[in-house]
Amino acid sequence: ATPTALLAGTGRGAELGVLIKGPEILESTRRVDTIVLDKTGTLTTGTATLTSVVPAGRLTATAALQAAASVEAGSEHPIALAIVDAAQRRGIELRPLTDFVNLPGSGARASIKGTEVTVGRAALFDSVPAELAGADSTGTTVYVGWGGVARAALTVSDEVRTTSREAITRFRELGLTPYLLTGDNSRTAAAVGQQVGIDPQHVLSDVLPADKHAAIRALEEQGKVVAMVGDGINDAAALAQADLGLAMGTGTDVAIDSADIVLVRPDLLAVADAIGLSRRTLRIIK
Ligand code: ADP
Ligand code: MG
Repeated sequence: ATPTALLAGTGRGAELGVLIKGPEILESTRRVDTIVLDKTGTLTTGTATLTSVVPAGRLTATAALQAAASVEAGSEHPIALAIVDAAQRRGIELRPLTDFVNLPGSGARASIKGTEVTVGRAALFDSVPAELAGADSTGTTVYVGWGGVARAALTVSDEVRTTSREAITRFRELGLTPYLLTGDNSRTAAAVGQQVGIDPQHVLSDVLPADKHAAIRALEEQGKVVAMVGDGINDAAALAQADLGLAMGTGTDVAIDSADIVLVRPDLLAVADAIGLSRRTLRIIK
C-alpha cells in the first residue's frame, strides 16, 4: 500500500463528510463484522423535547420544572437541553446552583439554596412514588427529587433520524450485524430498535457508561470485530475500546477525540459510505 493512495482515500472521505484520522484506520474498516450504535444523538437526533411533567403530592409542575431545569443548566446532555429549553419557553427563572455534579449516563445533581437536588434515572433515588412510575410511556422518563425521593417525572421524546433505518439495511448489506447499546431503559430501547430494524436480542439497554466499554469488550471476546458509533461523553471509553470508533461530529469533544472517524454530516448513512469507501480504497491499493 502506498501512503499516497491511502491519503487519497481519506481525502475522498472528507468529500463524503467523514474525517478519517489516519490511513491505518482504513485497514480496521475492512475487518469489522459488527456495528454497535448508541441511541441518543446517534440513531436519534438527540434534540429531545419535553412532553410532560407529572408532579407527586403537592408539588406544582412549575416548581418541579424549575428545580429540574436549574440543575440541568449545568449539563450538556440532550435530556438536559430539552428540560432547560422547556423552562425558558415557559418563562421560568433558573435558580442559582452550587456544587454541580454531572453523573454521566445517569443524570446530574446540585445544591439549590442548601437543598441537594437530583435529576435523572430512577436508580438515583431511594424511592419513586407509585404515582410517578410509568407516568408517561411516550419517551424517556427521568425524575427530579431531593432527600432520596423522586418528586416529579419528566418525559422527553427524541426523534429517530430519518436515515437510521436505511443505514441499518446498508450495514447488513456490508455484512455487519447491527447492535443498539444505550443507557436508556429497555422499553424505549426496544421501541427504537424495532423502528430502525435491529433484532430484539441485539438491543442492549440500561447500560451505564462504564459498562458500555465492557459491552464492547465482551463482543470482541466473542471474536467479533466491532465498530462503535456514538456521540456522548458516556461513549468515549467504548469508542476507544472498539476496533473502529466513529463519532458524530455534532457530539461532545471527548467522543470526537476518542474516535478514529468523525462524521461531519450527522447521519448514519455517512458511516455506511465511510466503511464502503475505505473497503473500496483498500481494494484499489492491494
Ligand atoms: P444513551 O446511551 O442513549 O446516549 P445516556 O447514557 O446518555 O443515553 O443516558 C442514559 C440515561 O441516563 C438516560 O436515558 C437518562 O435516563 C439518564 N440521564 C443521563 N444524563 C441525564 C441528564 N443530564 N438528565 C437526566 N437524565 C439523564
Ligand atoms: Mg448518546
